[in-house]
Amino acid sequence: MRENVCALHRELVRNNLVAWTAGNVSGRVPGEDLFVIKPSGVSYDDLTPESMVVCDLDGDLVEGSLAPSSDTAAHAYIYRHMPEVNGVVHTHSTYASAWAARGEPIPCVLTAMADEFGGEIPVGPFALIGGDDIGKGVVATLRGGRSPAVLMRNHGVFAIGDSPKAAVKAAVMCEDVARTVHVSRQLGEPLPIPQDDVDRLYDRYQNVYGQRSNR
Ligand SMILES: [Zn+2]
Repeated sequence: MRENVCALHRELVRNNLVAWTAGNVSGRVPGEDLFVIKPSGVSYDDLTPESMVVCDLDGDLVEGSLAPSSDTAAHAYIYRHMPEVNGVVHTHSTYASAWAARGEPIPCVLTAMADEFGGEIPVGPFALIGGDDIGKGVVATLRGGRSPAVLMRNHGVFAIGDSPKAAVKAAVMCEDVARTVHVSRQLGEPLPIPQDDVDRLYDRYQNVYGQRSNR
């Protein structure tokens, strides 16, 4: 899991989701009440599997010589309250954060959005870093819904998945559709997709599309 989480940080860079050190990935350790997360303030080029830190589900450091990411409390809250989640990603990616700054959900106006998110990408509450407020806002917004990503108001993206890779994919797709819908808005009002078509697209993509072994 250290190797997996370390390697996935390179995807944040490769997909232009992060500036400086502002973004992090974590992964739940299978069968344990533990997760692996990025150390705080370390540049992506310097990350190694050994430098990843291991925390318990209260966000307390269990293993590692560096301090965990400043977003660790939020990741821990999500793992505590969403047992089906095995990966969490946080970014301030540009277009998605621009929607978050307006407190505006990204409307479902692309088939790719219906596929991945099953509807709009919702906005979560404004919350200050430090305690459980960000984690509470993420869980309250995403639990029971289809979207694996939330735009935390005035802040950025939290994405979840059944694996760390799935959470990274959700963060990448969130930024991609945030950009496209933003561009579309420049030329007029994007057309909505009828809800029953959204439902059909979501069902097909989630249950039929792709290689079975790779899901
Ligand atoms: Zn942040």
